[in-house]
Amino acid sequence: MFEQLGLIGCGLMGGSFALALKRAGLVKRVVGYSKSPSTTERARQMGVIDIEAPSALLAVSGADIVLLAVPVAATEATLKAIRHLVTKDMLIMDVGSTKRDVIDSARRVLRDHIGSFVPCHPVAGKEVSGVENADPELYVGKQVIVTPIDRTAPTQLEHAVRVWEELGCQVLKMAPEEHDAAFAAVSHLPHLIAFALINGVAGQEHGQDYFSLAGPGFRDFTRIAASDPKMWRDILLANQHELLAQCRVFERSLHAMEALIESGDAEALEGLIGKASDARAQWRMGTKR
Ligand code: NAP
Repeated sequence: MFEQLGLIGCGLMGGSFALALKRAGLVKRVVGYSKSPSTTERARQMGVIDIEAPSALLAVSGADIVLLAVPVAATEATLKAIRHLVTKDMLIMDVGSTKRDVIDSARRVLRDHIGSFVPCHPVAGKEVSGVENADPELYVGKQVIVTPIDRTAPTQLEHAVRVWEELGCQVLKMAPEEHDAAFAAVSHLPHLIAFALINGVAGQEHGQDYFSLAGPGFRDFTRIAASDPKMWRDILLANQHELLAQCRVFERSLHAMEALIESGDAEALEGLIGKASDARAQWRMGTKR
C-alpha cells in the first residue's frame, strides 16, 4: 500500500492508472498535476485525483510512488522539474510508448537517483485521449513492458512489477532497444501507414465519395488514424531510427507485391497473399514469447 501517488499528466493513461490504483486499494491519496490547470481541476472533479498540485514538483512532494504520464517529449522537462525531491525510496515510473529516449532523459537528469526510475510501457490505450476517457479497467488483462537498465534498483523494479500485476497486468521485461525495435514494427509503422493511407484517400478529388463507400475492413484498418496528433508526432520522432528501418522493410514488401500486380503474375501474387494470411492466422494476440 502506498501513501501517496504523485501523478504528472492527468490524461487517459495517468487518470486510468490513478483510478485503478484507488480501486485496488493500493494508495491512500493521489496528488495530480497537468499542464493546464483546467485538466487538473477536471481530474479532481471526476475523483481521479484527490488534490490538485500547482506544479510537478509539488505533486511529487510527499509521494512514495510517482507516475509520469505525459507525452514522451515532455519527459526530460518533467524530470528536471521534480529531480530535487526524488529520493532513493521513491518509485518513479513512466508509461511512454518509446523507451530509449525516455531512458536517455532519465540518465541525464536523475543521475545518482536513476535507480528509482523504472521505465514502463503498458500496451493498453485508446485512440481517444484526455482524462474524460480515463477508465479503471484500461490496464486489466494487458501487457506491460518494463525495460530496466543496469542501474535500476532491484527493489524498485520488484515494486513496479508488483503494482502492475496487482492491477491485473502481465509484466514482460525487455531491453529498451529490443522494445523500440519491436514497437516500431507492430505499433509505430502501422500508425504511420494508417495516417498516410487516410491522407492519401482524403487528398484525392473523389476521396470523400470513396470514404462513403468504405466497409468494415477499411474501418478496422484505419481506426488508429484517429489517434492524438501531438502524441503520435512525438512517438514517431522519438523512435525515428527504428521506425525508418521498418519503413524500408515495408516498402520492400509493398514493392514486391506491386511488381507482381504489374506483371500479372497471379500465382506468385497468390503465394504472397497466402504467406501473409498464414502468418496472420498463426499470430495470437497476447501470446507470450
Ligand atoms: P493524454 O490523455 O493527452 O494525457 C497527457 C497528459 O499529460 C495531459 O493531461 C496533459 O495535460 C499532460 N501534459 C502534457 N505535457 C505536460 C507537461 N509538460 N507537464 C505536465 N503535464 C503535461 O495522453 P495519454 O494517452 O494519456 O498519453 C500519455 C503517455 O502515455 C504518452 O507518453 C504516450 O506515449 C503513452 N501511451 C499512450 C497510449 C494510448 O493509447 N493513448 C498507450 C500507451 C502509452 P493537458 O491536458 O493540460 O494538456
